Amino acid sequence: MTEQAPAAYVGSRRVLSGVQPTGALHLGNYLGALVKFTRLQNEMETFIFVADMHAITVWQDPKLLTSQVREIAAAYLASGLDPAKATIFPQSAVPEHAQLAWVFNCVARLGWLDRMTQFKDKAGKHKERESVGLYTYPVLQAADILVYKATHVPVGEDQRQHLELTRDIAAKFNHDFDVPGFFPLPEALTEGPGARIMSLRDGSAKMSKSDPSDNSRLNLMDDADAISQKIRKARTDPDPLPETLEELKDRPEALNLIGIYAALSERTAADVLAEFTGQGFGQSFKPMLADLAVARFGAISGEMRRLMSQPDEIDRILAAGAEKAREAAAPTLAEVKKIVGFWGS
Ligand code: ATP
Repeated sequence: MTEQAPAAYVGSRRVLSGVQPTGALHLGNYLGALVKFTRLQNEMETFIFVADMHAITVWQDPKLLTSQVREIAAAYLASGLDPAKATIFPQSAVPEHAQLAWVFNCVARLGWLDRMTQFKDKAGKHKERESVGLYTYPVLQAADILVYKATHVPVGEDQRQHLELTRDIAAKFNHDFDVPGFFPLPEALTEGPGARIMSLRDGSAKMSKSDPSDNSRLNLMDDADAISQKIRKARTDPDPLPETLEELKDRPEALNLIGIYAALSERTAADVLAEFTGQGFGQSFKPMLADLAVARFGAISGEMRRLMSQPDEIDRILAAGAEKAREAAAPTLAEVKKIVGFWGS
């Protein structure tokens, strides 16, 4: 007997994504996430949140958290998100995320979470010292997405495994409670030239907000001097650039810089390499890359500064977004309570 495929989700297409307020936004966040958000808001109903509940899975100074949330919201707006098109809100203002996450904690299996490489990377050798929240982070992420029945999730490559877990949780919920097609199996939109920007240190780890070395990343708010200096210091070897990308396979730091150049100039990596073949990085490549980054970030950081000088305006946008997000999330949670059989539902 052939097994029947579970019923497909038939709801409308929706986008959901977010960024943690854990520090200065960098080039990886911009290319891996923000650029995609602004494109998708014109294509589908879009929900973009500031992931403050995810942020506290590692220690955040309570005196700074609210301003960090506003800074991420300012970056969203400055990079082109339009509150008339996209719903922009703080995660903690919509309690349905946490409520659904609890149900999902009871659906996800320990073995699934044990395989999550981001937890292993962040916890390092001493996982017993980490918060339980850091361990169940991907379960909350599944709730963030599925409470809106989002079908498309624009993220960097580092989030692909978490998205697979979201799909597994959705499929298991639909199966265990016999509600085929209730939750969609969301698709990770990781494609694009900035899907995995690596650290400027040596190209071996991903560029990250929580990397203690500020020189490892280009921040959206860096000024022209900081950008030039960081790119000048970015590790490269003195060998001239070869003709093919294949010949760079053992030089991750070089591939990373070529990839960044390509993403910022909207060209292919092969095309960029061809322009600089035979030259060292220090000649014209690094100064030209710095010019590209300054040109791209300058306008965004100026607008971010302007917005951050008007916190009331940001708060107004976040509050309106939270109200809209709750309207979208509440019906899903009510349905879930009924499906699970909770009292009073
Ligand atoms: P943290 O270091 O605090 O974990 P982060 O820099 O990894 O932060 P997140 O807030 O976890 O950033 O991620 C926000 C979005 O940016 C996600 O979609 C993530 O995939 C994307 N992103 C993060 N780092 C990179 C990177 N180096 N290259 C491409 N995309 C990235």
